[in-house]
Amino acid sequence: MPRSPKDYTSTEGKPNWCSGCGDFGIEMAMKQAMAQLDLDPDKVMLISGIGCGANMPSWFSTYGLITLHGRAVPVATGAHLANHELSTFVEAGDGDAYGIGMGHFIHAMRRNPNMTYIVGNNTVYGLTKGQVSPTSAKGCIGPSTPFGNPDPAVNPLALALANHCSFVGRGYAGNLPHLVNLLKEAHNHKGFALVDILQPCVTYSRDKGYKYYQDLTYNLQESGHDSSDLEAAMKKASEAPEKYPIGIFYQEERPLYEEELPQFKKGPLVSHDISNVDVTPLFEEYSS
Ligand code: SF4
Ligand code: MG
Repeated sequence: MPRSPKDYTSTEGKPNWCSGCGDFGIEMAMKQAMAQLDLDPDKVMLISGIGCGANMPSWFSTYGLITLHGRAVPVATGAHLANHELSTFVEAGDGDAYGIGMGHFIHAMRRNPNMTYIVGNNTVYGLTKGQVSPTSAKGCIGPSTPFGNPDPAVNPLALALANHCSFVGRGYAGNLPHLVNLLKEAHNHKGFALVDILQPCVTYSRDKGYKYYQDLTYNLQESGHDSSDLEAAMKKASEAPEKYPIGIFYQEERPLYEEELPQFKKGPLVSHDISNVDVTPLFEEYSS
């Protein structure tokens, strides 16, 4: 029997997001992508940070862990290195990923572990009541910036393109069929895949609602974009906020982090036989 989104849905509770939140679209797209990829829920792990969308693992029946703000990527990298045969998804928001988690993001792109990094980008810190985030536009009025945001916005796609990310994509939470396909492509990509998702926060980012993105998004692949052309990708990444192309900006094949480390030649760490490993000399060395 074909799998369905229900196969990935936790029986323990329902999402507590505001009605109309873009996180609902992201959740459904993730579950549809997993079902269409025919992933065994027992072979999937979903790791998140802190934020509205970062509650995502609570609504999934796969392996999951909610970690600390900004720390989803290093935790996921460790878990992935322990068992890189699982499909690894990491989920975060723009504050989580491009603020406190920015350093981890850059180093993960350099290393290229085989995982999908899903960032719900709503341009605010929604969970803490709508303060400006790293992707908020300069001049944005918010609870922490009553006179306007003094900082220009981070461009996450340009940043990824400049830092060796082997798959750079953008989706939109209001275009489910496109987002499902993009997530499938990202999962099937061999390497670190960023999927930045335009996510309306209907409570705190009302100027960037569904109508705003509906009017300004267009399909990158249908426009004839060549996703092997880094320079063209950089130009496309610079179109926002006038236009928001969605799709695969850039993709390249290069060795995985787990392939570069000799410790994993014998397979994932969890399958190594450690019954004959003697750690006594180590204890002696560190206790003397
Ligand atoms: Fe979604 Fe915004 Fe509500 Fe958070 S505050 S649940 S991001 S609509
Ligand atoms: Mg946010």
